[in-house]
Amino acid sequence: MPSIAPQYGNWRASFPEATESDWLDWRWQQRHLLRTEADLARMVALTDDERAGIRETAARFRLGITPYYASLMDAASPFCPVRMQAIPVRAEARVSEGELRDPLGEDLHRPTAAIVHKYPDRVLFLALDQCPVYCRHCTRRRITHGDEGALGRDAIADALGYVRAHHEVRDVLISGGDPLVLTDARLGEILAALRAIPHVEIIRIGTRAPVVLPMRVTAELCVLLRKHAPVFMVTHFNHPKELTPEATAACERLVDAGIPVENQTVLLRRVNSRARTIRDLNQRLLRHRVRPYYLHQADVAEGIEHLRTPIRAGLEILEQLRGWTSGLAVPHLAVDLPGGGGKVTLQPHYALEFGERSTLFRSYKGDRIEYPEPVETDCACPYDDVYYKNDRTDHAAPPPRRVRFSVMKESSP
Ligand code: SF4
Repeated sequence: MPSIAPQYGNWRASFPEATESDWLDWRWQQRHLLRTEADLARMVALTDDERAGIRETAARFRLGITPYYASLMDAASPFCPVRMQAIPVRAEARVSEGELRDPLGEDLHRPTAAIVHKYPDRVLFLALDQCPVYCRHCTRRRITHGDEGALGRDAIADALGYVRAHHEVRDVLISGGDPLVLTDARLGEILAALRAIPHVEIIRIGTRAPVVLPMRVTAELCVLLRKHAPVFMVTHFNHPKELTPEATAACERLVDAGIPVENQTVLLRRVNSRARTIRDLNQRLLRHRVRPYYLHQADVAEGIEHLRTPIRAGLEILEQLRGWTSGLAVPHLAVDLPGGGGKVTLQPHYALEFGERSTLFRSYKGDRIEYPEPVETDCACPYDDVYYKNDRTDHAAPPPRRVRFSVMKESSP
């Protein structure tokens, strides 16, 4: 159990029956998820919109919030970013044009119930269908609603068999649901089985536990993860308010144990859709040795249109970060294309004109600056034939088709 005392949130008033040791026990938190309107009304002054949202989405999407995460809510403001991510509103009950049950087309690339194999050298491993908090912007809500039934031992065995049989898979992302809802013993079985597969080089775990259930990151869990290194944690902080002493201590325990922690933020309208919020979040993450990795455009999952931002908003945020703060605090802005097209990343346009002898750029401050191109353009690496002479495992992408760059006439973001 973590040695830190709970320092944040008004939990004693809302859970007078809980002892401090209950509060710091992730299993207690998981057993006491807030699942109903009445549960939530104990914590916050629910608005009519939230009450309607809870009722009208009940049949479609799960509701569940750890007492810890609920304790971070601003009881008086419906615009609290924690509240907006965890409590449904009426708009969530509506499926808007273009929204999809399976927004990333994962079911088209799902050879077994627990594997999504969409990219050449890596797979998504669905370990379970449950989470400590059911995020209102969840991409995989068709699974986390439990529609498909639990992913049991047979599904996990089939998934392991698939990875064993596919030698091109060098990277496994364990997700779900949230894999850290599994016990150490169960997670350890999956990690050990994956680690025993020689072609699996790295394992990633996608989890919101450091954000919504930081007491899950116990010393024992850190030892388990370190044992199966290289294991990367990919977490999901969306707002600086989530970086409580408990949450940052959880991240630091992981990093201290040799587990790199990367963060993926989802851009959510009126939650974190300003450069100031994202910059503050990323700078604070770095202070705790967590690397901002992706800033995701929200996917077109059912019922989340009210939380989606225009693509342009993400570009404008990036424009206000690049150059103005450390490069480490500037994430990749990614759009996962609807229907299974895969991720693409976006950048503001800095290259204005491509010429034979020079390329014209716009600096982050808006100055126009020329970069002289070299005379020699042959970029082959002759020593590769020596260095890679016995290597038959080249998973590299095929050479790009010859692309004609367009000339940007104006400095749009
Ligand atoms: S923790 Fe991840 S899988 Fe679970 S509800 Fe949130 S976004 Fe979805």
